[in-house]
Amino acid sequence: MSNLPSEPEFEQAYKELASTLEASTLFDSNPEYKKALAVAAVPERLIQFRVVWENDKGELQLNRGYRVQFNSALGPYKGGLRFHPSVNLSILKFLGFEQIFKNALTGLNMGGGKGGADFDPKGKSDNEIRRFCQAFMTELSKHIGADTDVPAGDIGVGGREVAFMFGQYKKLTKLWGGILTGKGGTWGGSLIRPEATGYGTVYYLEHMISYASGGAESFKGKRVAISGSGNVAQFAALKVIELGGTVLSLSDSKGAIIATTDEGIDAKHVSTIADIKLQHKALADVAETSDFKSKVKYVAGARPWLEVGSVDIAIPGATQNEVSKEEAEGLIKAGCKFIAEGSNMGSTQEAIEVFEASRKEKKGECIWYAPGKAANAGGVAVSGLEMAQNSSRVKWTSEEVDEKLKDIMKNCFENGLETAKKYVAPAEGEFPSLVAGSNIAGFVKVAEAM
Ligand code: GLU
Repeated sequence: MSNLPSEPEFEQAYKELASTLEASTLFDSNPEYKKALAVAAVPERLIQFRVVWENDKGELQLNRGYRVQFNSALGPYKGGLRFHPSVNLSILKFLGFEQIFKNALTGLNMGGGKGGADFDPKGKSDNEIRRFCQAFMTELSKHIGADTDVPAGDIGVGGREVAFMFGQYKKLTKLWGGILTGKGGTWGGSLIRPEATGYGTVYYLEHMISYASGGAESFKGKRVAISGSGNVAQFAALKVIELGGTVLSLSDSKGAIIATTDEGIDAKHVSTIADIKLQHKALADVAETSDFKSKVKYVAGARPWLEVGSVDIAIPGATQNEVSKEEAEGLIKAGCKFIAEGSNMGSTQEAIEVFEASRKEKKGECIWYAPGKAANAGGVAVSGLEMAQNSSRVKWTSEEVDEKLKDIMKNCFENGLETAKKYVAPAEGEFPSLVAGSNIAGFVKVAEAM
């Protein structure tokens, strides 16, 4: 029996990776990799600290802060900060573990880490957010550095929070450095960083669609269900619309908006949602306005997957375990052919099993699943490009960054595909497993570096 506390999310992420490695031929030819996996499953360092700050009434508030420095074999620890009441060590270890292999798949030199706090930004004033971020960075600054550990945003941490933390780091250390990514454009941020995760997921999907159809199909005319309404979901939706697809849904933790006309959710809706999100408002607050009411319905308490009707593509873009086994089965029944995660570990293990079984059984009629650590690698990839621009004191144009992002997503797709062919040997006509291929490709790179 283990003397360690149970860490359900981390155990899920570990088992997901380990099971695909074990089911492949990887360990047959390289038994040393088994040891490397055992070592890689233990973080190099865990940092926990208290964050004490004052609310607007002058009352003392207390939160728990963390940084998981998981693996630095490929470069400085790199990964976001999540501010959400659900944050605990299990969640940050799962995210940090996924981040190691995701970062490896970008082809850039970044190790893996993750951090955050159980702080809830919802309902807080700008001043409260600022005081929290400053108190959080006062502790975190002792453990990070431009060449050792470079955090960024994640759920609950966007441009504003990165700005407050960057300012505090600079005050404390007198250093201007590429210490955080996701910075603003005038103070070291990269163009396309806010868009990168959503755009990257859609670029990855473009390769899946093209491979599956022998180059005949694209997003044009495709019906796309998206969950979430934050940064990832917003930019995924805008890119889908730009490429000629129809966005069927968006959602938040309280419910989903579902398109009721063939036009789907449009770019103007997305821009309104971006505005209300900054004010920490919910989708329910806009769903009743005239512009929305004529084109969408609001379903309280629902996720989009079983609500959208016929669908070609699904993009989970909210949080972990947001697609259950039943929802996976429902998506397949509704005709869904591709699913790529903009969120981290968006699907439960049972849902992944449903997708993978379909991929094997139906040959071409099936659903093809891409895990977050491959499909959403565009965000951290452009963070890596931000670090490169900061160290060389240059700024690339949007076009330059977007081209590099497209290249990285293409390599990420092809690497997963070819690695699956090599180590899993798909049956004749079967799409290679992007789960197994991406896990093995990311793992081998890290194991070799270790
Ligand atoms: N939070 C993002 C992720 O899950 C980005 C991390 C980063 O840019 O460092 O990949």
